[in-house]
Amino acid sequence: MHTVDTEAAVSLTQALVRLRTVNAEGAHAVELPAATLVSGLFTRFGWEHTVTEVAPGRPNVVAVVEGGGGPGPTLMFEGHTDVVTEGDPADWSVDPFGADIRDGRMWGRGTADMKSGVAAMIYGVRALQEAGPFPGRVVLGVLADEEGMMLGAKAFAASPLAAEVDGVIVCEPEGYEVCTSARGGIRLRLDLQGVMAHGAMPQEGRSPIAAGARVVAELERVQEWARERYGTHPHAGTVTVTPTVLLGGDPDQLNVIPARGVVGVDVRTVPGTDHAELIGRVRRTAEEAAGSLGVDVALTVVDDRPAIELAQDHPVVAGLVAAHTQVHGSAPAFGAVPGTTDGTILTRDAGLPTVVYGPGGKWIAHQRDEFVEVREIGEYARVYAAAAHRFLTAGAGSAGSAGTTGGGTR
Ligand SMILES: [Zn+2]
Repeated sequence: MHTVDTEAAVSLTQALVRLRTVNAEGAHAVELPAATLVSGLFTRFGWEHTVTEVAPGRPNVVAVVEGGGGPGPTLMFEGHTDVVTEGDPADWSVDPFGADIRDGRMWGRGTADMKSGVAAMIYGVRALQEAGPFPGRVVLGVLADEEGMMLGAKAFAASPLAAEVDGVIVCEPEGYEVCTSARGGIRLRLDLQGVMAHGAMPQEGRSPIAAGARVVAELERVQEWARERYGTHPHAGTVTVTPTVLLGGDPDQLNVIPARGVVGVDVRTVPGTDHAELIGRVRRTAEEAAGSLGVDVALTVVDDRPAIELAQDHPVVAGLVAAHTQVHGSAPAFGAVPGTTDGTILTRDAGLPTVVYGPGGKWIAHQRDEFVEVREIGEYARVYAAAAHRFLTAGAGSAGSAGTTGGGTR
């Protein structure tokens, strides 16, 4: 039904992977070369688009493709152009930015997360457009800084266009799963303030080391409590409360009890979790555990992203499920995103219904020897084109515009 230029989609993925857009501390103009490439392609397609810096040298590229087929809803496809570091290239068995194709796979940082997704959504929408007029319009958001503080998604969510979007397909790698839910994330920093003393006279001090150890042990109890209280989600699993930092003292000063220490905590939540209640529980638990040793605790919420969930019968999900079934001959599985995506921000800040579905394995992101199966790029582009067609046509019908009313949502 929709004819995708698979060769061009694969070439675009390769070209994007070869641009080293690593989102690292102090990196300059991270996404600029990828944004320039995508913007040039949009110009060639005649797609109206904007290039907006969300930080110096770090642009969002946002295109609006009008269907020319009458009024209808607005569907957004979303992807990001930054990648995480390749780490030590010696750990890789391939060139991390070579985008070499071997054994039917394209190898390199960002092949799965998520330059193949960006290429698939662009060529999916191109195929949709070339098949003829369609109702409504499609927005393509090629955003910056997903791997950092999600500045690109925050900027888009605050833009007037966001208020006009009726549904979002986030093209992150989820291994053929239609992810209607995503776990939430809370990053907490606990600063421990004790009193410095000689290691031979511990009674003169108040140790943040001992207090930190107690806090870490008690966090396991907070996790048990949270699992009991918020339950097990069919796809997102259970709440996890994981200490990721335990700092204090100086390896060259073994006879000194330090004054300060830090415990860092990475909390992951499931839909239905009350974040304020959970943070309050961590705070009280840490204060009691450290306070029993005379050590004070100051808790800082470094980041707070909610868990999200979209109904499986929402039109954007229904359209995607039908399209996947059409292309693959069987229905997809539903799943949850283990971490957060730009979709979390689009839902949190702009109230947009988001579903995550894109090429690449769910667990390959951020690992060494990252790859995507080359055939998936064309497959996903075809599903995106069909999903957009279904969503926009059904939306135009239910909006009561002239013509089709039989589409509906199933
Ligand atoms: Zn990603």
